[in-house]
Amino acid sequence: MITFVPEPHLLDSPRGREWPRPPAPPSPARGASPPASADVVIVGAGPAGLAVASALWHHGVHDVVVVDRTGRPCGRFFDRIDTLGQRVLRSPYEHHPGVEGFRDCELLDFARLHWSRLTRTERREIRMAQSGHRSVVPVDVFDAYCAHLATSHHVAEKAWQATVRAVEPGRDAVTVRTDRFSVAARHVVLCPGEERRSAPETWWGGGHPPRGVSFWDESVPSGAQCQVVVGAGLTAAHLITGALAAGREVQWVVREPGERYQCADVNSSFFRPEGRKRFDGVGWSERLELMGRFRRASIMFEFRPQLERAEAVGRLVVHRGEAVKEVAAAVGGTVVLRLESGRRVAGDHAVLALGTTPSIGTGLLPDDVVAARDGWPELDERTLSYRREPRVSVVGAAAGMVLGPAARNIDGHRVATTRVAAAIAHRLRHGVPAEVAAGV
Ligand SMILES: Cc1cc2nc3c(=O)[nH]c(=O)nc-3n(C[C@H](O)[C@H](O)[C@H](O)COP(=O)(O)OP(=O)(O)OC[C@H]3O[C@@H](n4cnc5c(N)ncnc54)[C@H](O)[C@@H]3O)c2cc1C
Repeated sequence: MITFVPEPHLLDSPRGREWPRPPAPPSPARGASPPASADVVIVGAGPAGLAVASALWHHGVHDVVVVDRTGRPCGRFFDRIDTLGQRVLRSPYEHHPGVEGFRDCELLDFARLHWSRLTRTERREIRMAQSGHRSVVPVDVFDAYCAHLATSHHVAEKAWQATVRAVEPGRDAVTVRTDRFSVAARHVVLCPGEERRSAPETWWGGGHPPRGVSFWDESVPSGAQCQVVVGAGLTAAHLITGALAAGREVQWVVREPGERYQCADVNSSFFRPEGRKRFDGVGWSERLELMGRFRRASIMFEFRPQLERAEAVGRLVVHRGEAVKEVAAAVGGTVVLRLESGRRVAGDHAVLALGTTPSIGTGLLPDDVVAARDGWPELDERTLSYRREPRVSVVGAAAGMVLGPAARNIDGHRVATTRVAAAIAHRLRHGVPAEVAAGV
């Protein structure tokens, strides 16, 4: 039997190195507004929005407006990663927002071009990737690659900072209304990603969390001595190792009977056609069952030795098979979590890492267009457009019930982007309905 040997030092790539950047036209000034109409508006400039904009560029669709709350390509993605202190990606070198089916610089090529800037470990990982083995990608390399894509595909200069409030289908155009401007589009692609999952209302009665409680995408106060972490995924693992490194003791509440370690965050077959095929031609309830079974929290193997060591010496106390019932900020600044078993767990700060929920267009599009069922939109399976509004499509987590659990991942965006960009380009060029275009 081959035993996988995790190497914790792989998690330690340096962050914040300078990378050469190609000359680029300036990005839109903050406060400026885009043209009043466009062929395509992309909502969200994360890895998904970047992939779509880059693919449309290859298809010759250049009249594109990208709208993002942060205004920066992949702004929220890297903000979240840096808040957690994450240094390497979980996904391999083949997973990147570069465009499939066109001559383009792959992430692996990009890393090799910058060989002299990489550490010995990072170079070894590249050799592993070249010979088809699992390897990890430094966040630094991925960040520089995304900046390279955004510049070389003219995405950065089309990215406007604003919050989209509504996407209103009309007779001649779909109007995208933001807090600052509106754009009338022939097509809209929603790439809003996922929002953090909030706590059940019963934990503290809803609304803002009590003092001393925060969510995974917020920073933890530096004065904390004993930190509670709730959640079983990679985010929780980052929070725990970050707290241990800061000299804190950690109480970890895991609802499952035990933590799960695996390389990718979903079974790797879902990154391949045979995995996606499991979602083809099967009924809704089977898809829901597959999502429930495979969209589960897990942690990269590399964390295991450190977490086990910390538990062995008592710096990490793991409450396995324990669900939180109530959270209260008690007197003296201590946060107390009451568990279903009746046990209490206390610390001076608690961080909730309860996962994410896909943004499916609810609140932006009319409800009858989204036609939400069990938290998922009703989509055309070939074009990923809303069945009731073919001019609006999705790329990202919202496509989960069509593409499977990897839809939320960088590789899932590549698959979705190929379909969506081809359908839009075809329709713009020939005026043929997108669903017909995707079928040709
Ligand atoms: C810490 C962390 C690490 C991860 N690591 C990996 C990994 O290694 N590999 C992998 O495949 N996946 C990883 N994931 C999963 C990850 O979420 C996705 O791969 C990726 O971020 C999804 O890209 P996205 O563009 O769909 O969403 P996001 O990156 O969230 O981008 C969506 C963008 O849309 C903007 N937006 C949303 N709503 C609006 C609105 N109404 N108006 C304007 N803008 C809006 C947001 O501000 C955001 O910038 C990770 C996730 C997290 C949280």
